[in-house]
Amino acid sequence: MKIREIRAQGLSGGTPKGGWTQELAPEDVVHTLVAVHTDDGRVGVGSVSTRDDLVRASLDLLEPLYRGQDAREPERVAEHLHQNTFWLGRGGAVTHTISGIDIALWDLCGQAAGQPVGRLLGGRHRERVRPYASVLMDEPARLAAELAELRAAGFRAFKIGWGPFGRVGTASDEAIVRAARETVGDDALLAVDAGGSDAFWRGDLKWALRTADMLAAHGAAWFEEPLRPDALDDFAELRRRAPVPIAGGEVLTRRQAYLPFLRAGAFDIVQPDCTKVGGLSESRRVGWLAEEFGVRLIPHGWNTAVGLLADLHLASALPGTDLVEYRTGAPYIDAITADPPRLDGDGMLAVPAGPGLGAVLDPDRLGRYCDAAALLAP
Ligand SMILES: [Mg+2]
Repeated sequence: MKIREIRAQGLSGGTPKGGWTQELAPEDVVHTLVAVHTDDGRVGVGSVSTRDDLVRASLDLLEPLYRGQDAREPERVAEHLHQNTFWLGRGGAVTHTISGIDIALWDLCGQAAGQPVGRLLGGRHRERVRPYASVLMDEPARLAAELAELRAAGFRAFKIGWGPFGRVGTASDEAIVRAARETVGDDALLAVDAGGSDAFWRGDLKWALRTADMLAAHGAAWFEEPLRPDALDDFAELRRRAPVPIAGGEVLTRRQAYLPFLRAGAFDIVQPDCTKVGGLSESRRVGWLAEEFGVRLIPHGWNTAVGLLADLHLASALPGTDLVEYRTGAPYIDAITADPPRLDGDGMLAVPAGPGLGAVLDPDRLGRYCDAAALLAP
């Protein structure tokens, strides 16, 4: 079962807003699907959190390294790609692309073994995972209306982030969080994401400390990216003094980048994104590393259906990971597979129990956002 070819298709036409200062348009490509085709006619799929032109250039670079490799050995093949591209690629588009390849190889490995990916990652600690509805902040009334709709749709966990938070003023921040808590109810999980990886983020340690107190008063589950992504010392100080859990690390790539943050005690929760950090192989290693430091992994996933499935399998295989991020209102999650994710009566998602990831891409539905045949045809 050798790798014959890897193809990529960027998703365009239904891109939801990202909350960035330079806001995304629906046609902007920020998610690229990859398909690994093997010599025995199997296809494994993965998802990459970046533009398709960057993925294609990276695939050109990586092709001599992956062609002919055994597709049933994701961890070895991904490490082979990482180790041979230190000089050109470490950390950026090449690492992002290897992430998608790694996910697709886990899919193939699962297909070959007839087992779900989570079992191959170490075993299924859980059969269901709670998805939290991830929404961009807005002025309180509009945000409350959106959250009420999601609550009615069955979600029991929520994260609000970016938008005006930390960018307008203290009163505005509190009004937003208060409205959100009143809408979702005291029994719901509510996390808050400042979006400190936005360009030129200005929230500093003192702002974060004051804001953490406000969030604690509203029962926030965690305070995410309150500081710039590289502000290691301030993160460590904030975590020591803040009354709420501190989360971060969504922009970091490869396990090595997490080690200084873990050693410094910077996070209560690490949030690697498997479509960026190096794939499921790397996410699992970050999760295990974090556990040794008493830190939980809750995956970042501004996502596609393929990325969400990867997160579900990862969550099933890590003892402390019982949540996944679910970007609501995203057609790349809700409208490209034959069997879109469906919440059960408790607001949970089942971890697929069949072989591989369990991603059944629907060529007609996927075809609205890319050339599905170019990706999947034999
Ligand atoms: Mg975030």
